[in-house]
Amino acid sequence: MNETPQHDTYDIIIIGGAIMGSSAAWFITEQASFDGRVLVVEKDPSYENCSTMHTNSCMRQQFSTPLNVKISQFAADFVKNLPRYMGDDERVPELAIRSFGYMYLADTAEFADVLRDNQKIQLTEGAATQLMTADEIKHAYPFYNVDDIVLGSINLIDEGLWDATAVFDWWRRSARERGIEFISNEAVAMTKNAAGTKVESITLKSGEVISCGKVLNASGPRAARTSKMAGVEIPVEPRKRYSWIFSAEQPLDRDLPLTIDPSGVHVRENGGGTYQCGGHSDIDPGVDYDDFAMDHDIWQNHIWPVLATRIPQFEAIKVQSEWAGHYAYNTFDHNAVMGPHTEVENFYFLNGFSGHGLQQSPAMGRGTAELMVNGSYSSLDMSLFHYDRIVNDTPIIEKAVI
Ligand SMILES: Cc1cc2nc3c(=O)[nH]c(=O)nc-3n(C[C@H](O)[C@H](O)[C@H](O)COP(=O)(O)OP(=O)(O)OC[C@H]3O[C@@H](n4cnc5c(N)ncnc54)[C@H](O)[C@@H]3O)c2cc1C
Repeated sequence: MNETPQHDTYDIIIIGGAIMGSSAAWFITEQASFDGRVLVVEKDPSYENCSTMHTNSCMRQQFSTPLNVKISQFAADFVKNLPRYMGDDERVPELAIRSFGYMYLADTAEFADVLRDNQKIQLTEGAATQLMTADEIKHAYPFYNVDDIVLGSINLIDEGLWDATAVFDWWRRSARERGIEFISNEAVAMTKNAAGTKVESITLKSGEVISCGKVLNASGPRAARTSKMAGVEIPVEPRKRYSWIFSAEQPLDRDLPLTIDPSGVHVRENGGGTYQCGGHSDIDPGVDYDDFAMDHDIWQNHIWPVLATRIPQFEAIKVQSEWAGHYAYNTFDHNAVMGPHTEVENFYFLNGFSGHGLQQSPAMGRGTAELMVNGSYSSLDMSLFHYDRIVNDTPIIEKAVI
C-alpha cells in the first residue's frame, strides 16, 4: 500500500481503514450521485491490533433497541447475499451464518424479566427469539448445568458465526477497484476554518497536508484521539477484552450456542472440538491504546472456573491460543455514535461499537455513505445514533450488551 496520497485534496477522507472505514468507503461507491475523490488513511495496514482482527466474529438479533435489531437483520441479509450485493461479481464467495444462536442465561428474576421484555421487542421486529425454562434448556442442551438458571433466551435464525474477514477483504478490494485510494499513513493533526465549523486539512505523519471536503472518524478505539485533532470530544475509550480458544478432552455432542453466562463470561462453538471464550476483569478501566498484554490470572481464577461450573465437561480443557483486544467502548450509553458533529459540521463519526461492530458494519457503512454523500438516509434511518444525543444528554440504553 502506498504511503503518499496521489492528490492534495479529497472530497472525503476516512481515518481508519478497518471494517468500518472500509464498509463506508465501499458504500460510498454505491451512491449513484457520487463522483468525488475518497482517501482512506490507515496507520497499520497489517491490521494486527485493530478490533476487527480480535473478534468473536458473530452476529445476533437479540438486542433491546429496535434499530439495533434492524441493523443486524441487514447484516444477515448482506452476508447471506454477498455476491448479489457486490454486483454479482463471480469472484465473491457465497457465505453462510452458522446459526447456533446466542444463549442468554438469567439467574435472577430481574434479569429474566429483562429477557422477557427484550423478546417482545425482538418478536415485534421479526426476530425468532425463544424463551426457555431451565428444564427446556437442559433437554435441548444436556451439557449445561442449569441449577441456578431461571430463564434463557435463544434465537436460532441468523444468529451465530460468520466470516467477517471475507466481507472486510471484499469491501477493501472492491472499493479499491472502484477508485477509492487507501494509503498506509497516520492522520496526526487537523486544521479548521476561522469560525471553527469545518475541518479544512489533515496532516499526515509523513508530513503531507491534504485538504478535505468531509472527514470520517473510523478510528475504532482511537476515536477520541482522532476527534481531538478536530477539537471535539467523544466518550469512547479502549477497554480490554480477553479471548481464548481451547480444546475439550471430551467435546460436546452438539453445537454450543454463544452462551452468555450470568457472570458475563461468554463461550461458543469454534468447530473441531474447540471453543472460543471471552471475558474481562471485574475492574474494567480504559487502557492505553497500545496495551495488549494478557492477564493469565483471569483465565485461571475466573474464566475457567466459570466454564467448568456451567459446562462440567469443560473441567478438562486445554488452551490453544489467547489474545487481548480492545472494545471501542462508549462510556455514555454503549451504543454506536455516528453522524456529524454538532458544531464542526463536516466531521462525521463512526465509532463506539463495543462488541457488536462487525455485525453493524454493513448498515453503519451504508447509512454513513448515504448521509455523507446525499445528506439524508434512503434505507434505514440511523439518526437515533447521531452524535447530537451526547450533547443533548439523551442516552439510548441498550440492555443487551456483551
Ligand atoms: C474480543 C472482541 C470480540 C468481538 N466480537 C465481536 C462479535 O462477535 N461480533 C461483532 O459484531 N463485533 C465484535 N467485536 C467488535 C468489533 O470487532 C468492532 O466493533 C469492530 O471491529 C470495529 O471496527 P472499526 O473499524 O470501528 O475499528 P478497528 O477495527 O479498531 O479499526 C480502526 C482502524 O483505525 C486505524 N486508525 C486509528 N487511528 C488512526 C489514525 N490517526 N490514522 C490512521 N489510521 C488510524 C487503526 O489502525 C485501525 O486499523 C469484538 C471486539 C473484540 C475486541
